[in-house]
Amino acid sequence: MDRDGKDGGITRRDLLAMGGAAAGAAVVGNALTPAALLADDKALPQVPQRVLGKTGKKIPILLLGGAVGFDQRFDPKIAEALRFGVNYIDAADCYNGGTCEPAVASFHKRAKARKKLWITSKSDAHDPEGFRKTVETSLRKLETDYIDLYYLHALEDGSVLNDKLKKVVDKLKAEKKILHFGFSCHDGNVPELLQLAAKTPWVESVMFRYNFRKYDDKALNAAIDAAHKAGVGLIAMKTQGSEASFKDAWKKFQKNGKWTKHQAVLKAVWADKRITAAVSHMDNFEKLRENIAAALDKRSLSRVEREALERYAAETRSLACDGCDHLCGGAVGAPVRIADTMRLLMYHDVYGEPDKARELFQRLPAEARALAGVDFAGANAACPHGVDIARHMKRALTVLA
Ligand code: SF4
Repeated sequence: MDRDGKDGGITRRDLLAMGGAAAGAAVVGNALTPAALLADDKALPQVPQRVLGKTGKKIPILLLGGAVGFDQRFDPKIAEALRFGVNYIDAADCYNGGTCEPAVASFHKRAKARKKLWITSKSDAHDPEGFRKTVETSLRKLETDYIDLYYLHALEDGSVLNDKLKKVVDKLKAEKKILHFGFSCHDGNVPELLQLAAKTPWVESVMFRYNFRKYDDKALNAAIDAAHKAGVGLIAMKTQGSEASFKDAWKKFQKNGKWTKHQAVLKAVWADKRITAAVSHMDNFEKLRENIAAALDKRSLSRVEREALERYAAETRSLACDGCDHLCGGAVGAPVRIADTMRLLMYHDVYGEPDKARELFQRLPAEARALAGVDFAGANAACPHGVDIARHMKRALTVLA
């Protein structure tokens, strides 16, 4: 079989024929052992790799996101991903109610696969002592001696990247408990944080929101340039770009296209060679195969497809929240969290995860959930995307509270 197809294209059906059937069987009957699932198959194509900045290490361009959790005993999706070279698992101490790390541990123990995996995890504690303790907790929960890359999770305040934290990071690295260090940033001033990373030699990688909607963001692109030039490995998350209303708009886009919408937006991220990889929550086999097929497919987005994506981004700008809370948050006289709430609405509306969205909303501080009676007019005016914040917050009260 010509696995790359005549023009380098590859489909989910091709993928299934290559080896996906094994994982499918495991899901249905759990008939295959971990060893059988992980049996080396030299004939399988491997997802391309890029170097993660100054770490000097190669990682696949597609990473397995752990925010939605994994099967607690042995997740065959990890095995399936691994067979195609997707060996990087993006975990965090807090993911999926704290169950993500133990699930990763269970997988690598049963499969004897620790050395085949690149494990990243994250700490929500940003003070030096809290960070050190969380690393120790992660090592225990992951049942491993080392973590390949450890992030400060959801950094907003760059001042925590101080000498005291550096000392702790240096010590953890000297003890080989963590091999590399960086931070992730969801909301807040992402361009400012990337510029800071560029000037902070001990920050080796940053994980941040990046997708096809960001092509025309001058401040962000200048910051990506600076971080990339400084050797910071850059990992894109939220690559779907708040796909509100995407479903309808996509139909006309897709008429002549060769990609699914998920594949096209991943291709848009990979087209940017400054970005090392994209992380994706692949919580079922269909998504996993769709994304692996896109990563293996040698074709790039055509000019016409890219222009169509850019047009679509412009047309739907007011439907996509960028997480730049520093712009609208200061314009509302209450301690609400607009970007967080918008993200949870995205989980509810677009990702099809209403329970998770409601649970995460309940975890926000009470004052952040007190949306009733707040005047959002100033925030609406401050949003450069023209997002109707007042309308969304009213809806959040109905669907999330
Ligand atoms: S509502 Fe607008 S200003 Fe606020 S975080 Fe979203 S995109 Fe940024």
